[in-house]
Amino acid sequence: MECAVPVYFRASAERLKQFRAVVASAAQTAYYGPWMERAGVAEPSRIAEIDSAEQVLAQLPCSELTGILDDFEKLRNPAGRRPELRDLHYPLETPPRVAVLAPGFRETRSVRLFPDNWSRKLKHFRPNSIAAPAGVLRALALAVRDGRVHMQPLTHAVIVFTGIEHGVLRQPDRDLFWKVFQVPLFEQLRGLGGELLAEECEAHHGLHIRDEDCLLELEPMQSGFELVYTSLTSLEYPLVRLATGLAADVHDTPCGCGERVPRLTGIRRLPRRKSYAMVAAAD
Ligand SMILES: [Zn+2]
Repeated sequence: MECAVPVYFRASAERLKQFRAVVASAAQTAYYGPWMERAGVAEPSRIAEIDSAEQVLAQLPCSELTGILDDFEKLRNPAGRRPELRDLHYPLETPPRVAVLAPGFRETRSVRLFPDNWSRKLKHFRPNSIAAPAGVLRALALAVRDGRVHMQPLTHAVIVFTGIEHGVLRQPDRDLFWKVFQVPLFEQLRGLGGELLAEECEAHHGLHIRDEDCLLELEPMQSGFELVYTSLTSLEYPLVRLATGLAADVHDTPCGCGERVPRLTGIRRLPRRKSYAMVAAAD
């Protein structure tokens, strides 16, 4: 069954505080400053009064990748705090050795980062699990399959990052990863700044929406919803109402894992189209 969950945001005092910090940071940028002024939330006293994220978002246009990537520096708030390292969300009990083939995560006793030159290092680390962007995991899987990289078989899981930067996962990818690694695969949908937007659970029937890092809006389309999100963690380069160019179907029926948080399935890229920001500017 499909359902409408237009804004996925479980409001709490802490999260509203985070949202106000994002608005305050965005108001200092060349890109979002005029938006915040028009919405009446550019002044610190007005920002402090925000008690509904939804009400503020309803007054702002969507920003699109093409618009922001053309001039990324317009997004920068020089006084904005740099993002902290993230904890890797591991879907099961964390095994002793998890190799993350990407930067930006916090290392722990069991989680080690190998953002580059991983082909040699993996052999020595002997990971139980690997977490990596889809493209990196694909390259590793092909290298292992063709005998160009030698590593001990994985014993636990592979975690694959997908999203705006990393693309979507197709069935041939899942088949390849299963054939090569022979452990369960867990997809994690991530935003431009690495924010966790949704993650696959043990039931493997879609990705549960996650709201620790972001505020996800689901824009209804003819079929399914476009994913639009506001980062709650990126303050140096705020991302407000970013239209991801990704669409998904949404389900709020109980999941086999026992969670009731809505799930995304059929995540797909949308064809490029006229930007919301341009439409807003023409109004
Ligand atoms: Zn589940």
